Amino acid sequence: MRLCRFDDNRLGVVTDAGVHDVTDALRALPAYTYPLPNFDPLIANLAAVRKAAEELLPRAPVIALDKVRLLSPVANPGKVVAAPVNYKKHLEEVLAQKEIHHGNLINEIHRAGLFLKATSSLVGPSAGVALIHTDRRNDHEVELTIVIGKTARNVPVADALKYVAGYCIGLDITIRGPEERSFRKSPDSYTVLGPWLVTSDELTDPSRLGFSITVNGETRQEANTDDLVLGVAELIALASSFYTLHPGDVIMTGTPQGVSPIKAGDIMRASMDGIGQMEVAVRAG
Ligand code: MN
Repeated sequence: MRLCRFDDNRLGVVTDAGVHDVTDALRALPAYTYPLPNFDPLIANLAAVRKAAEELLPRAPVIALDKVRLLSPVANPGKVVAAPVNYKKHLEEVLAQKEIHHGNLINEIHRAGLFLKATSSLVGPSAGVALIHTDRRNDHEVELTIVIGKTARNVPVADALKYVAGYCIGLDITIRGPEERSFRKSPDSYTVLGPWLVTSDELTDPSRLGFSITVNGETRQEANTDDLVLGVAELIALASSFYTLHPGDVIMTGTPQGVSPIKAGDIMRASMDGIGQMEVAVRAG
């Protein structure tokens, strides 16, 4: 199933016909009281919401895809985990270009581990990216993104895919410079998730997905997830060996070669096999 959030926090099922408005399925969510849980309520209750959505689907109003404003498919992730240099060719490109590495020590992911992006940086495609520090280089990074479906702690690689709720496309927007990664990648709107969540029963094999991003129609990054150094299962195992993963936690799997600068007025279009495509506008923040 392809589940999207759109307009004023509405819930939709995406098919070739368009967006089927199944917002009433959100009534399947329990009421939470303060202090709120550290997981995303929709993803934690995905089975109940899907059941309700399937019952509503035959009578749900359908809206053309180009008439909705797409929001992040996950509204309240507890954390946004991200993988540094997780494609071999991207590692070579980073090491070769001073304007990307800025003298930072660049390690292979086995040594570097993972990092976190602020959850406040999260937006959906319709919000666009608002660039700050535009005197510095701001880059796009397109990444297969995992949404965790159930609580995971010390998960072995062989079991890891069972913990996935689904996948979406992620943009890990980055200011180049000498500071820590999480600082340069956490400004508001620097994490874009979309266009929707494709559940893991529909996208069963994330290990061979072609994907790309264009800027103003020009292809900048084009790669395949079969070039990942650590694949989806390995990333879940690694992340869950350091902290508990909760439903709705997001893991951005890393970006391939071809990172390049974006500026206000640019239009990015990211697409991925098995998921779809999304358009994201860039403006000055
Ligand atoms: Mn990245």
